[in-house]
Amino acid sequence: MSYDVAIIGSGPGGYVAAIRCAQLGLKTAIIEKYNTLGGTCLNVGCIPSKALLDSSEHYHNAIHNFEEHGIDTSGVAVNFEQMISRKNKVVSQTCDGVKFLMDKNMIDVFTGVGTFLDKNTIEIKGAKKEKITTKNTIIATGSKPNYFPGMEPDKKRIITSTEALSLKEIPKHLIVIGGGVIGLELGSVYARLGAEVTVVEFADSIIASMDRSCGKELTKILKKEGFKFQLKHAVEKVTTDGKTVKVFAKNKKQESVTFEGDYCLVAVGRKPYTDGLGLEKAGIKMDDRGRIEVNENLQTNVAGVYAIGDVVKGAMLAHKAEEEGVFVAELLAGQKPHINHHLIPGVVYTWPEVAAVGFTEEDLKDKGIEYKAGQFSMRALGRSRASMDTSGFVKVLADKNTDEVLGVHMVCARAADLIMEAVTAMEYRASAEDIARICHPHPTYSEAFKEAALDATENRPLHS
Ligand code: FAD
Ligand code: NAD
Repeated sequence: MSYDVAIIGSGPGGYVAAIRCAQLGLKTAIIEKYNTLGGTCLNVGCIPSKALLDSSEHYHNAIHNFEEHGIDTSGVAVNFEQMISRKNKVVSQTCDGVKFLMDKNMIDVFTGVGTFLDKNTIEIKGAKKEKITTKNTIIATGSKPNYFPGMEPDKKRIITSTEALSLKEIPKHLIVIGGGVIGLELGSVYARLGAEVTVVEFADSIIASMDRSCGKELTKILKKEGFKFQLKHAVEKVTTDGKTVKVFAKNKKQESVTFEGDYCLVAVGRKPYTDGLGLEKAGIKMDDRGRIEVNENLQTNVAGVYAIGDVVKGAMLAHKAEEEGVFVAELLAGQKPHINHHLIPGVVYTWPEVAAVGFTEEDLKDKGIEYKAGQFSMRALGRSRASMDTSGFVKVLADKNTDEVLGVHMVCARAADLIMEAVTAMEYRASAEDIARICHPHPTYSEAFKEAALDATENRPLHS
């Protein structure tokens, strides 16, 4: 068989690229080594984690907040098996949806490991061995959980996010290595279900790559939920006797500290995945961090071979992978597509959620850009009091001279959805005053964005 485009990997980068290629009239094949389509995101990432976050949040609200709302919930209990089974159903429905989209767009799906024989020939090793030829290839093979020597997961007690999404029991004491996105999201699931959760983090803050104010606020909130944080602790080794785990770390004074629990979640980042691709046979180069090297058009050093998503530089996010998939498809069809990598929003799905776009205050200071900061506390919003979601804030950073919005950072209820107003505004290079002059519906959480913009533009919030 011969194709205009072959895509290796069916995650959000690969399957979206395939749909756009097919829409543009290119004869398209997609190759996936697992039996289900959708990659990390649908199978063991975004979708299952959000399903468990939602379920655990319902339980948490029922036992902690419903009484205040006047709802008697005596006798509420967790049926963990059912919670995992609902999550599995959500995953399989979503993966089936991708299969439906492949069929609808007449994209040929090959199941097996795709390996380059040369730049235009790919072998697929699955239940049978097949070979296809292609004019162009998009590599979208994603990433896998990372770990360092001494913390190798046994996948039973020392686990990665993949196992944490399918445990058979709620841990009594979950020790999480890494206070990043995965550690806090999956830590939240189990903390809400009653586990003791200790996060051991090397940096001096959680979610350290986001605006520092967000990590500070989230630390306060999660501590109230029972999280324990051990910051400035570098984990060096983890051991297990099959029932318990011991996590050995060095604190900032270089003293040895040991934490004991029954499960240890290793959440120290993800690494690009290129095993079995046979990159050397096509002469494709990687960088010193194991990512496939690409230029500004996401083309590798080999003409006609492109790479997108987690396997290349940039944020390891599903929506970034999708944008890159569409970009390459449109480029192959002769169009002039556009991606603004600076405006890819980031979200942490704790409750309240954390969301951000653009520069942090630390970035602006480093770059020597003069800025104004406006902030509004959720406590002052009627909407927040009505729902009892009074924690957090919205912060708007604007250029001191031009008033252009340079960054927006939120810790608040529904921040994941609210951040899109900021992304839209920034894509069109709005000023803080532009946002302040837009009518926002009352009562909504979005009023906090308007108020923060008013504060940034002229220090004149209306409600604080
Ligand atoms: P992937 O989704 O990793 O897909 C790559 C696919 O390629 C896989 O199916 C793999 O089997 C296949 N493959 C690899 N090599 C071969 C080969 N040689 N032949 C055939 N097939 C191959 N991101 C967000 O934006 N929002 C979230 O809420 C979010 N939550 C997450 C939660 C967790 C627990 C995790 C682990 C990740 C989360 N992410 C989230 C990150 C997100 O999942 C990734 O950024 C995204 O999946 C990357 O997409 P991709 O297409 O590049 O690769
Ligand atoms: P991360 O990079 O967000 O956090 C890893 C943390 O581990 C860092 O804070 C780091 O300082 C710490 N760390 C590293 N080595 C350590 C050690 N030896 N001891 C103690 N701490 C150590 O990585 P992650 O949480 O594993 O997530 C991986 C990727 O998955 C992220 O890049 C993210 O983009 C993606 N993801 C996104 C979402 C989302 O968008 N909501 C959710 C989950 C995952």
